[in-house]
Amino acid sequence: MSVWEDLVGQGRAVAQLGEAAADARAVLEGSTARGAMTHAWLFTGPPGSGRSLAARAFAAALQCLDLAGPAGCGHCEACHQVLVGTHPDVAQVVPEGLSLGVEEAREIITRASRRPLRGRWQVTLIEDADRMTEQANNAVLKTVEEPPEHSVLLICAPSSEDLLPTIRSRCRLVGLVTPSGAEVAEVLVRRDGVDPAMAAFAARASQGHVGRARRLATDEEARRERRDVLALPRSLGTVATALAAAKDLVDAAKEESDRRTGARDAVERSSLETALGAGATGKGVTGSVRGGAGALKELEKRQRSRGTRTSRDALDRALVDLAAFYRDVLVVQLGTASDLVHGDLGEQAAVIARATTAEATLRRLDAVLACRAAVDANVAPLLAVEALALALRDA
Ligand SMILES: [Zn+2]
Repeated sequence: MSVWEDLVGQGRAVAQLGEAAADARAVLEGSTARGAMTHAWLFTGPPGSGRSLAARAFAAALQCLDLAGPAGCGHCEACHQVLVGTHPDVAQVVPEGLSLGVEEAREIITRASRRPLRGRWQVTLIEDADRMTEQANNAVLKTVEEPPEHSVLLICAPSSEDLLPTIRSRCRLVGLVTPSGAEVAEVLVRRDGVDPAMAAFAARASQGHVGRARRLATDEEARRERRDVLALPRSLGTVATALAAAKDLVDAAKEESDRRTGARDAVERSSLETALGAGATGKGVTGSVRGGAGALKELEKRQRSRGTRTSRDALDRALVDLAAFYRDVLVVQLGTASDLVHGDLGEQAAVIARATTAEATLRRLDAVLACRAAVDANVAPLLAVEALALALRDA
């Protein structure tokens, strides 16, 4: 095995990063480097293509201690530590809320300037860097402009437009692509032991999003949620049912988000309370709890922000599924030979295709995309989805 193995359909990026890692070794050994290695990298690609996975694999290759083979053996201690997140010279920053602010960015920069404990590279990986505020961007820019000798910054974002041009222009770009359905299915079968028919279904329904495909293939609950979302086009009979369907969709996204974050929120809260001395008895306890009220408030604020983001992400995924459904309707209406994304719902797509026109389907597709944009622009989710349901009904 190697650290690159889980990167589905990213042959070009893997070749580029492998070459850079080999060059990085040459830099450390003081031999002639060929310029394939640099201090700042920008990983871009659609959600689910494996941006952070690629960045982490690269981090492992930079720290890999098996100098006999190509960098990133996947089995030495350093590779292992990077992959499980315990390597002392690799930090992974994941913005949990809606944005990554200047304070977090300053922490990143301070860390990036430290000398690596193991003497190789000090690697800092920023996931979802599109959530960096402008101030955070500016703070990070300084490190990108004058990188400390052994620091490597790996920035992940959907596209290079998500960062300040000044940062973008100083980073080497690694562009990831949407893997094909066959490539996603293959990895589900090989790595996760999924049955081939289920893998093929999940790969198609997830439209090249590897993590989503794995959840669909292995989690009955995820499949149920998908079916619920895709029931919406059949619930548009009256204004009342359309509005009810809109509410169901938003509630489902919220529930899914609560299920994902709820347990973690509770653990965080109880460990903070323990640290603050709640639950203990005796003198001084009341005082320390009072002193901790600020910390608890801070935690609650962070958790709310994370909850909002998780439920917004769940809603966005539902909208992507809906858009694909209307795309399938259009495929049927135009009689093209393309495969349906939601092949299991082909009959329902055909019913709607027969009852409407391609023009109406295009208007519906536009309505779904407008709803995604509205949710992304902070419009209250219920308002945006109600407007969508009515637009779908009227189209
Ligand atoms: Zn290794």
